[in-house]
Amino acid sequence: MNQEKCAKIFITFAKINPSPTTELLFNSEFELLIAVILSAQATDVSVNKITRTLFEIANTPQKILALGEETLKNKIKSIGLSNSKAKNITKTCEILIKKHHGLVPNTREQLEALPGVGRKTANVILNTAFGQETIAVDTHIFRVSNRTKLAVGRTPLAVEKKLLAIIPKPYLHNAHHWLVLHGRYICTARKPKCSLCPIEKYCEYDKKNWDKVKIKRS
Ligand code: SF4
Repeated sequence: MNQEKCAKIFITFAKINPSPTTELLFNSEFELLIAVILSAQATDVSVNKITRTLFEIANTPQKILALGEETLKNKIKSIGLSNSKAKNITKTCEILIKKHHGLVPNTREQLEALPGVGRKTANVILNTAFGQETIAVDTHIFRVSNRTKLAVGRTPLAVEKKLLAIIPKPYLHNAHHWLVLHGRYICTARKPKCSLCPIEKYCEYDKKNWDKVKIKRS
């Protein structure tokens, strides 16, 4: 896709939704970090259901550790991977206290050193908690980028790099949220709602060859 068309897509998103944000509920950088760790292979709705009650009793690393891993596991058991998520959150809280004065660090290197935090999670935190121009390529962004031909790539990292290169700077910070929301509600996996799509005239969706694009681990 050429840059002019790409710009038009983001001008359109900005007109429709000038201040997009995550659908995860949070009131602090720490709450966001825990919510994003919990959201791996789970919907934001299911995570919010858990964190609404969890954060009432434990919304700091100290309070999560005071709960204990077993109790934490029980509290998050309604979403997938609760064993490993409880383990990772516990270890992450220990590191935050030991190395970061109980605060969430604001560099990629420090974030990716936390258990349960990979590049995608770090990108969400850097973008949403610290205002950086990062894009976390999840399943929605990967699909939308490839379908529209905004950024064609075989891996999330390849797509991320292309998006960062093509999206005009004024739109970079919000691009992550616009693309996630677009993929979640309009350009859906099975049946994209093309007749309702605000960027339809710029989209280069090639329906016939779409099945050839598969997500790969970066
Ligand atoms: S026109 Fe269809 S395929 Fe293209 S972005 Fe919109 S919903 Fe997705």
